[in-house]
Amino acid sequence: MNAEASVKDRYSRQILFNGIGEEGQRKLLAARVLIVGCGALGAAHAEALARAGVGRLRVVDRDFVEPSNLQRQTLFSESDAEKRLPKAVAAANHLREINSEIQIEPHVADVNHSNIEQLIDDCDLVLDGTDNFATRYLLNDACVKHETNWIYGAAVGSYGVTMTIRPHETACLRCVFEEAPPAASAPTCDTAGVIMPIINIVSAVQVAEAFKLLTGETDELHRSLLQFDVWRNEWRRIKLAAPQPDCPTCGLRRFETLSPSAAETAAVLCGRDAIQISPAQPTVVNFPALAERLRPAGDVKFNKYLLRFKTGPFELTVFQDARSIVRGTDQIATARSLYAKYIGN
Ligand SMILES: [Zn+2]
Repeated sequence: MNAEASVKDRYSRQILFNGIGEEGQRKLLAARVLIVGCGALGAAHAEALARAGVGRLRVVDRDFVEPSNLQRQTLFSESDAEKRLPKAVAAANHLREINSEIQIEPHVADVNHSNIEQLIDDCDLVLDGTDNFATRYLLNDACVKHETNWIYGAAVGSYGVTMTIRPHETACLRCVFEEAPPAASAPTCDTAGVIMPIINIVSAVQVAEAFKLLTGETDELHRSLLQFDVWRNEWRRIKLAAPQPDCPTCGLRRFETLSPSAAETAAVLCGRDAIQISPAQPTVVNFPALAERLRPAGDVKFNKYLLRFKTGPFELTVFQDARSIVRGTDQIATARSLYAKYIGN
């Protein structure tokens, strides 16, 4: 079989599907997609896009594979967790086994204001696989600035949500949610848990939207904020309004998260094997409520001034303004990851 015939055979069921066809398949093979975060959602997106023959996949993640990921992060194996491989590297290894004919570009990195614009450069589309709002507002700013489509997705517990953002055509993330919930106020997968079915649903909708965008079938986009709860059996579709003229991001084009001063900051505390994380928006932390959420995940104690939380080799000290000191590491990416997982923002 020559190369073109083998491509046609490999993707034959997708080519037979009316919405894609030969022309759509050619567009998928020529596309470059950035997947930010390669945990449960990001790994599911990456696997689906690799199987579908999206030609170039750039996968970015700052974390390592852990045994507690394996219940839902289907791209990873026990051996990845034993070797503590970076998720981006482990994902690339498996994706190359799934499809050796596409390009996989793994980046082991903490996505922030200093690298996001370079990461989205030359990408046709960005898929959200992150676990925190700070990174999502960063993605929103960068994608609106560079007119790159991106697909928001999130899941915690049995609940998930997704929305497709086409800068200046649709509302952006900040048109819909003007501010992120304050730090230390919302449940995360590491405090409230998460079950795999909701990951599959959210990722499936994001991937279908990705196919529509990459093949140019934009009339088929769902144009909604879609919410699902697979435990309570609730499915909600809220039609999206037009972009808001006074939206700071897509209306006024103020891309605050792209400037270093507005970003969540992290500083290494010299000689203490500790990192200090300061949230972008200081807030007043409700210690009893945060302690309640953290209790299933480790030892937690608090007084009027601070809360101490121990998990594995790490200890997080959270102050009233949500500033935290993460002990047990001198790596900023590890500290930011622990902060996003347990304190959340
Ligand atoms: Zn907007």
